[in-house]
Amino acid sequence: MRLQADEALVVEAVRRNGAISRTRIAAITGFSRAKITSVANGLLAKEILAEIGDGVSEGGRKPRLLHFNNQLGYVVGVDLGATSLSVAVARFSGEILAHCSEPVDVRDGPEIVLGRVIDLALDLLAHHDIAPEQIRGIGLGVPGPVEFATGLLIAPPIMPGWEAYPIREAMQSAFPNSITMVDNDVNIMALGELRSGAGVGVENFIFIKVGTGIGCGIVARGSIYRGSTGCAGDVGHICVDRNGPVCHCGNTGCLEAMAAGPPIAQRATEAAHAARSDILLRYLEQGNGVLTAADVGKAAAEGDRIAIEIIQDSGRMVGEVLASLVNFFNPSLILIGGGVANIGFQLLSSIRQGVLLRSLPLSTRHLQIDYSPMGAEAGIIGAVSLALDHVFIIH
Ligand SMILES: [Zn+2]
Repeated sequence: MRLQADEALVVEAVRRNGAISRTRIAAITGFSRAKITSVANGLLAKEILAEIGDGVSEGGRKPRLLHFNNQLGYVVGVDLGATSLSVAVARFSGEILAHCSEPVDVRDGPEIVLGRVIDLALDLLAHHDIAPEQIRGIGLGVPGPVEFATGLLIAPPIMPGWEAYPIREAMQSAFPNSITMVDNDVNIMALGELRSGAGVGVENFIFIKVGTGIGCGIVARGSIYRGSTGCAGDVGHICVDRNGPVCHCGNTGCLEAMAAGPPIAQRATEAAHAARSDILLRYLEQGNGVLTAADVGKAAAEGDRIAIEIIQDSGRMVGEVLASLVNFFNPSLILIGGGVANIGFQLLSSIRQGVLLRSLPLSTRHLQIDYSPMGAEAGIIGAVSLALDHVFIIH
């Protein structure tokens, strides 16, 4: 849907605030009353906005409030991880109407996985009597590097078969009136925090995801910073130990190969086999020979010394890389999310320690480092926000 620049500012104010009076919009945009009246009338005529009930009076008669026309359409948010898939349908206000998740193996390739995405979205729409033609925007997060301008995955390490696959076209074939935006999963988590979470109103922050892989989303001056081709924040392949293990990227000692979920599980498995920890051995047996990072977290919560040491080592390495980012970028907030963020407080405290030890005092003076309070929700809320950010074309 095309908007003039003035209209876009008013639409943005409605999006950020929900039902809103013309007086409030004037205060937010700096437009005169006359200008608000003319822009709002234009948006009402285009049936993008509608008027509802009476707001709270500020002295005179009660103001009519502007909000999105409910007939305008809906957006779909998709958060695709290496092993999980979430799909949500939302109103233009950002309110999520329906949401579902299921396990997936992204290595099954785009035909199967996107087919599943479309089926789940169609199911959700059918339950709410919404036609596929009413979907105006789709935001899709994927666990790989995305060229943002084209929505194509470029050399994704854990997504065989997805290289340059036309995701937008596949989605448009099912939702003909929609525009699809594809972004890296960590960027959409950062966007979720920026729009509705701990990042609201924070100008410069970093969201780091520690899970099967490690990556970060960068918010600079209030918006996602993607760099020149879209892969800004790919910190998982920063070298932390030249003599470390070989990473799936081909280099040695990458942060991801040393500190993400799989190396945590791997080290714990070795310790259990070497009979260095009875507790880890018990979890290994319970898991039929497979230990996960979550098991290591449980063992640490039971006071297992080896498990605590493994988690602390991981946190220290993440913290050291973050310290370089802090010195370089000077954020005021670092949020830690992803599957491994549920592993317990030791990870957070050693990340904090790693950052503080190696950053300049001025850069850490007002720096806050916390687990993401939104957790897994950040991705799906970010995917919906990504769709909403691009549903209107400003010209
Ligand atoms: Zn690597």
